Amino acid sequence: MIIGSHVSYTNKEGLVASLNEALGYGANTFMIYTGAPQNTKRGNIDSDLVSKAHTLMKKNNVDIDNVIVHAPYIVNLANDSDLSKYEFSIRFLKEEIKRCEKLGINKMVLHPGNHVGLSFDKAISNIVNGLNGILDSSSGVCICLETMAGKGTEIGKTFEEIKQIIDGVKFGQRIMVCLDTCHLNDAGYDLSNFDNVLAEFDKIIGLDKIGCIHINDSKNPINSHKDRHENIGYGTIGFDNLISIIYNEKLKEVPKILETPYYDGLPPYKFEIEMIINKKFNNLLYDDIKKYYIK
Ligand code: FE
Ligand code: FE
Ligand code: ZN
Repeated sequence: MIIGSHVSYTNKEGLVASLNEALGYGANTFMIYTGAPQNTKRGNIDSDLVSKAHTLMKKNNVDIDNVIVHAPYIVNLANDSDLSKYEFSIRFLKEEIKRCEKLGINKMVLHPGNHVGLSFDKAISNIVNGLNGILDSSSGVCICLETMAGKGTEIGKTFEEIKQIIDGVKFGQRIMVCLDTCHLNDAGYDLSNFDNVLAEFDKIIGLDKIGCIHINDSKNPINSHKDRHENIGYGTIGFDNLISIIYNEKLKEVPKILETPYYDGLPPYKFEIEMIINKKFNNLLYDDIKKYYIK
């Protein structure tokens, strides 16, 4: 089982601190933003810290191939109404790929984008053109397009939409997909019958394209198009459904990343990972978090 969570990253402390945070949760992988997720300010990456982290990872059986970068969610490839903004997004993501290379990380999760009033076809062609401006044959970093909840004007709420993007991209071998369980539920996929969902994905895109899975429960019912994450077993998807997704044989090799909400400013991941490994729901999650972190 390859499981971890979103953890913090700063250029000052580097991947070493991210790894230590992940290990403290009992994780064997993790996901970072290379800076604040809500802005595009990014600094330099210290290569000494990177090699230190890689050594520590090997020691702790964390495979760097399972570590994920998440691009900031404010870059938007779908809308080109403001050309300078659109071009900034492309330039930024090119740089983000270089940062991944410096970190030795091979997978970058990206939200496809928001059309913000453009036609669907125009938005898709913007995304395709954007990705074609970012990807070339010179890098091994894959972009994992995340399946979205369909909130607002989000593109990527169905497998068909994601497929349309992949088909347009020249270096399609460098595009993979990140499934997000909260988003799938909110987009209308019935996760109580996950084998059906996977079969549909396989038919449309192909199972070998799944590069990452975000494991989140949802605060809202199926098809609500909301995107509000909930702690594992505390939402509408439910513990048993999430467990059967996490333990699905076909997804064994795919890194699974929790992006569930903090409780009172405290990370839930140690206890959620425990629940997952024990396959046993913890109805005292919030008590356990408080007891552990508030001394
Ligand atoms: Fe995301
Ligand atoms: Fe996600
Ligand atoms: Zn989300």
